[in-house]
Amino acid sequence: MLEDYNTSEVIFLAGLVIGSVIRKVYTAKSRGIKTTKNFSSVPDIILVLVAGVGMVVPLLYLFTPWLDFANYALPGSSGCVGTIVFAGAILMLWRSHADLGRNWSATLCITGQHSLVTSGVYRRIRHPMYTAHLLWAIAQGLLLSNWLAGWAFLVLSIPLYIIRIPKEEKMMLERFGEEYCSYKSRTGALIPCLSKNDV
Ligand code: SAH
Repeated sequence: MLEDYNTSEVIFLAGLVIGSVIRKVYTAKSRGIKTTKNFSSVPDIILVLVAGVGMVVPLLYLFTPWLDFANYALPGSSGCVGTIVFAGAILMLWRSHADLGRNWSATLCITGQHSLVTSGVYRRIRHPMYTAHLLWAIAQGLLLSNWLAGWAFLVLSIPLYIIRIPKEEKMMLERFGEEYCSYKSRTGALIPCLSKNDV
């Protein structure tokens, strides 16, 4: 069956499995953690779901002929670049979950024993998990030669970053005050060394 797919598509599928396993493991670990304040809202959940659609559109492209009308040819080098970016995305996804530990939650909330993480991948970026998703979205476009499957995640996740990051930072500021202010002053939002408000 794998012989029906080119190398970039196999790499994408393998990454999707690894990324899903990472997410599952940390979702299971965070089960039972008590939330003291939930900042999540219906629009926030809708934004997450919409971005999630962008991550699964590739399955339609890979396993059905429905999106074939949007196929196009990518330059030969894009598979190689896409693989490197994808590896970076998966590494970042794993490290950000590992560094956040019990402070991680899929929705915006403050937990009972929440502490501000400023080490590991959080040392120079405030939102490395979102950076990982952004890298993933770019890699998806470079690996899949279909306009819809390739770029859906990038397009559908942009509203999430624009709307969620300011909300999340307001929540963190409310909880951690001066400590978060100081952290914010020495980090980039998604990219280290860039503007402190690079979203
Ligand atoms: N925006 C972060 C985390 C996403 S998970 C990233 O992209 O890496 C969302 C949850 O993580 C939020 O509910 C918030 O409570 C928690 N969180 C975000 N940044 C944190 C930090 N530096 N330390 C502790 N918890 C954090």
